[in-house]
Parts: sequence; structure tokens; C-alpha cells
Amino acid sequence: MIMIGKEDIAEYAKSLGASLVGFAPVSRWGERLDLPRDFHPGSIWPSVMTVICVSMPSLLPIVETKVSNLYRAQYDIINRGLDETTYLLALYLNNSGCASIPICRDGYGEQKMLRKNPIAAFSHVWAAYYAGLGTIGWNHTLITRKFGPRHRLASVFTVLEIEGDPMIKEELCIRCGICEKSCPEGVYSGTPGVKNSYMNKTACAGQTFDGPYNHCGFCIKTCPVGDDRKLYLGASNEEYSKAHADISQWNMGVFATLGSMEAKG
Ligand code: SF4
Ligand code: SF4
Repeated sequence: MIMIGKEDIAEYAKSLGASLVGFAPVSRWGERLDLPRDFHPGSIWPSVMTVICVSMPSLLPIVETKVSNLYRAQYDIINRGLDETTYLLALYLNNSGCASIPICRDGYGEQKMLRKNPIAAFSHVWAAYYAGLGTIGWNHTLITRKFGPRHRLASVFTVLEIEGDPMIKEELCIRCGICEKSCPEGVYSGTPGVKNSYMNKTACAGQTFDGPYNHCGFCIKTCPVGDDRKLYLGASNEEYSKAHADISQWNMGVFATLGSMEAKG
């Protein structure tokens, strides 16, 4: 008999470092049909009944140093943390008699393949949306209440049937367009009223790996949504807008933040 509950799983994932944990029954992919069937969890592993999504944040003052080695180091640490957490969580479930597999955070082959065909086998963003962790923003990231888009995601597929978390009904993205304005590649375009922008993923992949702003991410740095901005007293949108003319000035946020924290004593 399986003696493991949803709370145990969430608690274990959090003990490994996950900040947000959510549960999505696979039926949500079939009911909503937002994605082609090839990208449904059952097309990757037919036994799966529930997708468990975990999120770890990109800490705002470090994001504000983009582009920097500090940011690159944080990016690598989060990736390692997510892959270890989902692997250990899958083992924990297996040891409890529930067959499970981790799905690593970047579900594409490798950089050359991604540039040729910029899609991943599985979308953690949609999985996390179905698991009630956030809503999908204009910039195609998962916007969460706690971190806005400043976090990364990975998932565990399990045969265990677990009650899904409620999906968030209100839109967390405020459609301000700042992400679009701040993208050095002009990747986003679209018309107001359409839910999400058109995204030139090939241009983004090129910028991420080749461009002068390696692992760029200005689109997440500037998004105004997220309680992390209150926690860290992050730079305001006005400051980003002023700095927009000269992208080399965009590391101002971290100094502004540290300065205001020092002033507060
Ligand atoms: S990562 Fe950079 S290039 Fe890609 S969409 Fe965001 S701002 Fe634009
Ligand atoms: S910057 Fe504005 S439009 Fe872009 S994702 Fe954030 S809230 Fe939405």
C-alpha cells in the first residue's frame, strides 16, 4: 500500500530547496488542448498521471547585475539545484512504490539543435501554469506572485494520482510591455488584446548563446511583477526606462538596491 501524501511530497521538495511546488493532473493537458499532443506529458512517458512542478528563484539583486559572472554563477546554481531536487524527489517517490522520473530544466538536445529548431520536448512553463504556480506572461515566462518571472522550473512525472492544485484565474501579467521594450533583439511583437506576444525564439536563442549579452534575460530583469521587488527594494521601472537608452547602465539596480539597504541601516 502506498503511504505517501501530497503534503509529504511538497514538504520533501521544499526541504531540498524548492521554493514553489505545484501538482498538475495530466488530464489538464487533454482538457485544455493549449499545446499539441506531442508535447503532452503522456507523449513523453505514457504512464504519467501527475506532473509535480518545482521552482527556484533568481534572486533579484543578482539578476540586476546582468550581464555578469555573478549572474552566470547564480544561473548555474539554480540549474544544478533544480536537477538535483527533481532527481531526489523522483527517487523518494520510487522508494515509496510510485514510479517517477525527473524532467530536467532544459528539455532540448543541445545549443546547435535549439538554434535550428527552438523548441523543447516539454514545457515546464505550461506545466507550472496547470499546477497553479502562476500565469503565462506576455514574454512567455511563468509569472508568479512571489518572483514574477525571476525563477526557473523543472518537473517530476509520477504514476501517482494526486489532486491538482487550483489554477490561478486572474492574470498576473499586467501587459505593461516593458519586457518587449527592454529586449535587445526585439524578440516580442503582437497586438494588444491578444493574450501572448509573438516570440522570435530563434533570435532569442542566438542572443542567449552568442550575443554580447550572453544569457541575456533583460525581459525577466525588468518585469515589474513579483514580491521580490518589495523584498529587495529593486530598481523601479522608471529607472529601467531611463537606463534603457544605454544598456551598459543596466547594472545600476544592484547598486541602487545595496545603497538603499545600507541607508536603512
Ligand atoms: S532573453 Fe534576451 S533576447 Fe531573449 S527575449 Fe529575453 S531579453 Fe530578449
Ligand atoms: S514586463 Fe509587463 S508585459 Fe512583460 S511579462 Fe512582465 S508584466 Fe507582463
